[in-house]
Amino acid sequence: MRFNPELDAIKTYEAGKPIELVVREFGIAPEEVVKLASNENPLGPSPKALEAIRTAAPQAHRYPDDSMFELKGALSRRFGVPEESIIIGAGSDQILEFVSRAKLHREASVLMSRITFAMYEIYARQQGARVLRTPHWRHIPEEFVELMERERPEVVYLCTPNNPTGDATPKADVFRIIEAADPDTLVVVDGAYMEYAAAKDRSFAISPSEILAYPNALYLGTFSKAYGLGGMRVGYGIARPEIIRALMKMRPPFNITTLSLAAATAACGDDAFIERTMELHFNELERYEAFARAKGFETIESFTNFITWILPEGIDSTRLSDALLRRGVIVRNLAGYGLNAVRITVGTPRENDRLFAAVEEVLG
Ligand code: PMP
Repeated sequence: MRFNPELDAIKTYEAGKPIELVVREFGIAPEEVVKLASNENPLGPSPKALEAIRTAAPQAHRYPDDSMFELKGALSRRFGVPEESIIIGAGSDQILEFVSRAKLHREASVLMSRITFAMYEIYARQQGARVLRTPHWRHIPEEFVELMERERPEVVYLCTPNNPTGDATPKADVFRIIEAADPDTLVVVDGAYMEYAAAKDRSFAISPSEILAYPNALYLGTFSKAYGLGGMRVGYGIARPEIIRALMKMRPPFNITTLSLAAATAACGDDAFIERTMELHFNELERYEAFARAKGFETIESFTNFITWILPEGIDSTRLSDALLRRGVIVRNLAGYGLNAVRITVGTPRENDRLFAAVEEVLG
């Protein structure tokens, strides 16, 4: 069978391994599996969202409100942005896909940092676009500015905080890159983990309304991380109406479910849950930093809900993550990104105890 030849250049995205896989392959009871591989919220969903899902469940036979009136209203109030500046996606992932299809083609190019979220490249290649990367994995303004001037990319991705490295880009650097971009270049600020950066250090906190100040920038946010709704698949994009109108042309009808819509709308007002999430997270993150220091692993300062350990030469990231998997602990191996490193989502105290004990055991 012949397919679109662009597919030849695409590596299928490998999602974090599911609990079910460990249960099936290693015969470990599901409640014994510790999943720290997909940057989910260890506290579970926001309680307000959970209640809204239960209340909405009897309406599961109905298509959702395709205008997403209530969710857009909630986001509009939360961020102080007009509703016509908001688009909702099945995860922010779907908005990345809309961006690619709306902007990219065979003569186009996209620019991103050397190590960043894998879907940017996959969506770009689907369109046959060229993928350009800066030399460093951190978002260095000079590197972006130089490549933008030389290559005039159609889309630039700024992932802050960045996945899978966990670092964040100072606000001033982000604005410098946006300001240097050509008016026809769409600069996407992917803030999937922004709530964590904002809780840690305000000088890294970028709000969607600040992005709206620029006619060629798009802010992406998600309910999958801090709000604990990864399984509901809701993300949002915020930009000038001209950009939103173009992206809306790519959107299929009813792209999120009736239950997802209810969950995200309720979660939007659950500040107490975000506070609890951050308190737990930063306490536990300190334990990861201390553990890494004690083991001689290098860490990248984390502004996210995960930590990336760069392993010393004698420890292979593939072997370590496989050995942990056999013990029922799922982490993300970053060998596919060309790094001898593992990315670990910070879990509950009990989950983290299990991870530390398993690492100790494997390293002997
Ligand atoms: N952007 C980044 C940087 C991510 O890490 C992720 C999830 N891994 C996404 C976007 C997509 O998240 P979602 O589709 O769940 O909103």
